[in-house]
Amino acid sequence: MPSFSRPLLTLVPGSATDAEHRAPVDAFTAFPPLDAAAWPAPVESDDSWRLDALCAETDPEAFFPEKGGSTRDAKRVCTGCPVRAECLEFALANDERFGIWGGLSERERRRVRLQRRDIISA
Ligand code: SF4
Repeated sequence: MPSFSRPLLTLVPGSATDAEHRAPVDAFTAFPPLDAAAWPAPVESDDSWRLDALCAETDPEAFFPEKGGSTRDAKRVCTGCPVRAECLEFALANDERFGIWGGLSERERRRVRLQRRDIISA
């Protein structure tokens, strides 16, 4: 029976023998389990405010209108939303570029961001 053997392809001559490359790898010793205790703590993010979002009960398209479309209906919903402040802060912190968040349009949020930057740098 003919034996076909693929040649060892390496960019580093002499880095390993053909036998070393072909030796079976024991995945449990070659890749030991990660030490979960050494992982960095997850960043806490409290998105629970979303549960009280009034827009969840309305047409989501009103909050992401086409360019030049009306934002009036979405902003009206936001005025009665109990988590308006949290929503706006989320949008500012995450640099949300589209849609109505916290009752403000992209342009209005940009203005808030610039005002805050000016206050911080003053
Ligand atoms: S403020 Fe407006 S966009 Fe934000 S959660 Fe409330 S209704 Fe939705």
